Amino acid sequence: MRKRLAETGLASIMVPAEFGGRYPEVDSLAVTVVREAFAAESAHLDSLLGMQGIGSYAIGKGGSAELREEWLPRVARLEAIAALALTEPGVGSDLKALSTSVVERNGELVVDGHKSFITNAGDADFYCVLAREGEGYSLVLVPAAASGVSVEKTHQIIAPHVLGDVLLDGVRVPAGNRLGEPGKGFSLVLATLATFRVSVAGAAVGLAQAALEEAVRHAAGREQFGVSLARLGSVPGNLALSWTDIEGARTLTYRAAAAAARDPLGNLHLSSMAKVAATEVAARVVDRCVQTMGRFGLVRGSKIERLYREARPMRIYEGSTEVILDSLAKQLVKRLTK
Ligand SMILES: Cc1cc2nc3c(=O)[nH]c(=O)nc-3n(C[C@H](O)[C@H](O)[C@H](O)COP(=O)(O)OP(=O)(O)OC[C@H]3O[C@@H](n4cnc5c(N)ncnc54)[C@H](O)[C@@H]3O)c2cc1C
Repeated sequence: MRKRLAETGLASIMVPAEFGGRYPEVDSLAVTVVREAFAAESAHLDSLLGMQGIGSYAIGKGGSAELREEWLPRVARLEAIAALALTEPGVGSDLKALSTSVVERNGELVVDGHKSFITNAGDADFYCVLAREGEGYSLVLVPAAASGVSVEKTHQIIAPHVLGDVLLDGVRVPAGNRLGEPGKGFSLVLATLATFRVSVAGAAVGLAQAALEEAVRHAAGREQFGVSLARLGSVPGNLALSWTDIEGARTLTYRAAAAAARDPLGNLHLSSMAKVAATEVAARVVDRCVQTMGRFGLVRGSKIERLYREARPMRIYEGSTEVILDSLAKQLVKRLTK
């Protein structure tokens, strides 16, 4: 899959043109529509592409000229696989509680900690690691080949994903591998989210559309009680409601993606709404589609079964629905009461 994806040249949309990318800056709308198409086919393909941007964006924004030259052209050609390591065994949504540490000593950064549920762990060529530094948090580029880096394949999830834990044991990298200012790593994490969160919405729309097409084909091709399933009881209503839900989510997603392409941080509220709306729609739609297909919706190895499993993690990663809604509610109250 990596070889085929590299041949398409599409990974170049994840890097600025100056470093071998397709557009002057990473364009959220382009990323979103490509992920929409990819997620309809394969969550693995979608993840492989998406992580090239999510894992490398901070290098473009906060890396030294040497780091950008060293890594970004290779990311654009898929010669280097990127990863972003934030989560820890005891820390997920509440990232400020993380315990991985970085200390500067004699011109080097020493990183110690344990990152968990990291996409591409084991396959990645580098990890952008968020670690505590003094009173703040810094993002550090850790090459996978650095001494003291090891990977454990601790978990596998219901929708197979390249995942693992990354152990950092006294890892030493040059001080120049810090991305951005010391203690200011969260601003780069936020910039990454502001550009890529909406693309998860694109993936969710693509997945939901694929599920609906599968259910419609099944319903139109099967009769019960002498009538096409597509005309029986609540089935047509469910199909039409799913179509309506998807078009609503798609419209919001494209609007948010176009806004993010112009001003990612200024429109993060729209990207967040699109992420919640589209991933929740995907979950509802795929569940209705399984119901419409009856026992055939439950068959292991079928397309609808795969989509059912793949829809589930989307509501948890890159900001869970609840955490995003909580932050949106705070912004809403602030906007309307100031
Ligand atoms: C497929 C997959 C790939 C991933 N890839 C990566 C990766 O590449 N890099 C990385 O760093 N991490 C990755 N993660 C981890 C992911 O970022 C976390 O799962 C996510 O941040 C949520 O953290 P948690 O799972 O620990 O849940 P928790 O934070 O423990 O939350 C559990 C539940 O409590 C709710 N909750 C938490 N806080 C609040 C709140 N303040 N208000 C209301 N409800 C709340 C949540 O919504 C959730 O329903 C990945 C996860 C998955 C599933």
